[in-house]
Amino acid sequence: MKVCKFGGTSLASAGQVEKVFNIITADPARRVVVVSAPGKRFKEDTKVTDMLINCVSSFLLTGKIPTAEIEAVADRFRSMAVELRLSDETPKFVARRLTAMFENPGSDDGILSDSVKAMGEDFSARLVAEYFNSQGVKARYLDPKVAGLYLSEDFGNAVCLPESFENLRTVADFDGITIFPGFYGYTHSGHIATFSRGGSDITGAILAASVNAELYENFTDVDSVFAVNPNIVKSPRAIPEYTYREMRELAYMGFSVLHEDTLAAVYKTGIVVNIKNTNNPEAPGTFIVPERRNFDERTRVTGIASANDFVMIDVTKYMMNREIGFGRRLLQILEEEKISYEHTPSGIDSISVIFRGHYASPATLSRIVDRIYKELGADDINIKHDICLISVVGEGMKKSVGFTARASLALARAGVNIELLNQGASEISILFGIHSDDEIKAVRAIYNEFFG
Ligand code: ASP
Repeated sequence: MKVCKFGGTSLASAGQVEKVFNIITADPARRVVVVSAPGKRFKEDTKVTDMLINCVSSFLLTGKIPTAEIEAVADRFRSMAVELRLSDETPKFVARRLTAMFENPGSDDGILSDSVKAMGEDFSARLVAEYFNSQGVKARYLDPKVAGLYLSEDFGNAVCLPESFENLRTVADFDGITIFPGFYGYTHSGHIATFSRGGSDITGAILAASVNAELYENFTDVDSVFAVNPNIVKSPRAIPEYTYREMRELAYMGFSVLHEDTLAAVYKTGIVVNIKNTNNPEAPGTFIVPERRNFDERTRVTGIASANDFVMIDVTKYMMNREIGFGRRLLQILEEEKISYEHTPSGIDSISVIFRGHYASPATLSRIVDRIYKELGADDINIKHDICLISVVGEGMKKSVGFTARASLALARAGVNIELLNQGASEISILFGIHSDDEIKAVRAIYNEFFG
């Protein structure tokens, strides 16, 4: 059995739903289908999830039922239903259900927001199931509540509770095709909770692990994963295979093709993930595998990713290395400010902490600096904003000589100053910190060194 997930652009219009139908019916192993909410049909279009977020914002602003916004969402589904020659059951249900949510909004805005946001996937799954049945293919819409997909109470950023995997095993018993809405599940208190944005990928992975799928096919709108962001480098190299570890590094650094948390659900089972293109299903796509299967000398480095808006605090204190507990106390200050840090490169008398810029309000930074001076007796503290991190990733670099040298030399030739350099013990990635202004030329220089 294969579990297939289709992203927003794959379900954006009636024509796309027909492609999904053709892909699923072309292979009898494709029996579990996870769907996103309809995405953009063209560049300036609005994703249904964003339309739903607009409904919530309007309600919170005015306190009134956002009738016009709800009607716009219903219209998206109505036009798809008409083109697919379906009844107006789903579009009517859309308007009714959304209105009911705003009539009884409850007292928690986060819970309301998740319930509304999740409806893009819910309506999408209902519509797709109806279409399959209208074409004579047995299909069911499966409610995550009925199926037992339980999530934590972290609304907007929930995680899957372990018992879900056992509950979802029986999804495989249905003798037709199961259409499952992505992105959300239920909390034990009975509320809808969503993953973070793009989270339908995670639903697909959870289902693939639960039914022990032979393959998790993740359909999107590109033929394969590229070694670098195509907005930075034109027509970059397509990579046929990544390992879980490589993809995790790249997804964390912003490769948007797969949600960062997707692989956590499948990595224990070793299920292979295949990224494929709904608009070109014949293309083999990119495989994400537990261990490298095909080792190609040319792809020792498999990806270069960059992410912006990091902040770095450099702390210096003479004889720091002798002071037991300095690092712990420094990180504790960050913990108490509820900051999740990313890296801590260090020297003998200096240590830097890097975290994402959204934590760094002027008030927070000034509190942190005060405390580090007072509580740790630091000699000097330096804060750098606009740090861009570039990660050079590849299993093939392990125990091989010269990769850091080549990447650094490429940066030097491009005139880029390296603010920090970090290589973890796994040896599958090298991290450079540079000023954000240099991002494009730095990424291009490193790409040309390894793929040019
Ligand atoms: N529809 C949700 C979003 O736009 C989840 C998803 O598509 O995976 O973020």
